[in-house]
Amino acid sequence: MDKIDVIIIGAGIAGITSAYYLHKNFPDLKFKIIESRNDLGGTWDQMKFPGVRADNDMYTYGFSFDPWKGPIIGGGEDIKNYLVRVAQKFNFKKYVVYNTDVKSLIWKDNQWITKTNNRTFCSQYVICCTGSRDRKDPHLPKFPGKKQYKGKIVHTQKWGNTNCKDKNVTIVGSGCTAITMAPSIIKQAKKVTLIQRSPAWIVNIDSQKKSTRNYKTIQVLWDYFSSRIFKKFQRKIMISKNSYYNKTTTPSYDYWDQRPASSLDNDYFTAVKSEKVTTIREGISEWVKNGVKLKNGDVVESDITIMATGGNTQLLGGIDILINNKKININNTSWYRGMMFSGIPNLFAHAGYINFSWTARCEIVSKRICKTIDYIKQNKLISCTPKYLGKASKPSIQANYVLRAMDKFPNKTYKFYQNYLIEYISFKYTKINDGALSFSKN
Ligand SMILES: Cc1cc2nc3c(=O)[nH]c(=O)nc-3n(C[C@H](O)[C@H](O)[C@H](O)COP(=O)(O)OP(=O)(O)OC[C@H]3O[C@@H](n4cnc5c(N)ncnc54)[C@H](O)[C@@H]3O)c2cc1C
Repeated sequence: MDKIDVIIIGAGIAGITSAYYLHKNFPDLKFKIIESRNDLGGTWDQMKFPGVRADNDMYTYGFSFDPWKGPIIGGGEDIKNYLVRVAQKFNFKKYVVYNTDVKSLIWKDNQWITKTNNRTFCSQYVICCTGSRDRKDPHLPKFPGKKQYKGKIVHTQKWGNTNCKDKNVTIVGSGCTAITMAPSIIKQAKKVTLIQRSPAWIVNIDSQKKSTRNYKTIQVLWDYFSSRIFKKFQRKIMISKNSYYNKTTTPSYDYWDQRPASSLDNDYFTAVKSEKVTTIREGISEWVKNGVKLKNGDVVESDITIMATGGNTQLLGGIDILINNKKININNTSWYRGMMFSGIPNLFAHAGYINFSWTARCEIVSKRICKTIDYIKQNKLISCTPKYLGKASKPSIQANYVLRAMDKFPNKTYKFYQNYLIEYISFKYTKINDGALSFSKN
């Protein structure tokens, strides 16, 4: 069994951030990054659909310790290359163990035993950087008659070698992914039908706009919080700013009830005006031989049907957690500061914001993890475990992927705010021994 100090699971943004702060604060600490894929980058290694890019600005999405130098919105491949470059620069690639899938974590004799498909590790701490999405099974709504359909069904998470050139293509979905990919598909395909049961808020971003990390932080957070306080006013502003919004294209929900999608240099608004595009606001009832049948009885014919229907939320990478030989149900725990779970010692886990850059939260959580490890070391302790405290969990946003997954989240949250500024201050200035953690010496 390989014995080390810390096991990091996942080599995406969270894994790289964790490695950076661990190494910076504890240069002698031994750690390994276990990754099930054959390369690093996480989301940005996996997502290959045409037009894939970040939804929010790269000033806040890039690392503060190695800022992004490209345009305001990064393309998927460029983000992946950036992550590889950062890992290379700080010499982290040598710590990554690829093609290794963590199956279970067992807390025994005051340490974690990490069982994978091919090796077993033993460590004092585990940091789960496994993202929030089931990397194997994306969300695929089920309609009857799938076997009849003679065309190709592809989910954006599993793009493979799909080629839409000169094909009749249908894109199902109206979220960030559908809006991002539509302009690229429209360029390639012969004909495109967008099936969007309900329209989404879409924000336009000017690719030439220059900004700074601090300015963007304030602007993005103001946009979110003002839209929560002045809901009707923000709705009016959104509609008045963009002639795209009319009776059929204006969402029924308020701005920021769900994460808005983004268009770059008006690419989406321009692309959907093309003669080869039809937009349909209707649900699907079943698959038929040549396409899908809608609830109103119409049939949409297509050679390729792209399911831009999002992911299935999954915490902790589908890994079984066992304490005293008993499997833990995360739904029976409390989420301590959105970084640990009650009753589970020395296990940290990253989760991002729904209203702000994921990377920004990874950084403040990583610093807090290091402070916690330092507290344990300084006080000659062995472990810390959150208590079952807090308020009943509520959906952080009214998005389907969150609502569908409420039974997979902890049923309580303790000091987990969807607010970067509050967390920044709270993580930095509050004591580690804040009354919500129990510490053990043996
Ligand atoms: C198209 C798209 C655009 C996005 N744009 C933005 C944006 O603009 N801003 C933003 O904040 N967020 C955005 N996101 C969300 C994005 O997922 C996060 O920003 C971020 O990339 C998550 O990083 P992560 O390292 O936490 O997780 P991931 O990138 O999901 O990486 C997790 C890694 O852990 C590995 N792993 C998981 N389970 C196991 C296991 N059991 N054993 C071994 N390895 C395992 C996976 O293989 C993966 O490599 C976007 C997402 C998508 C899909």
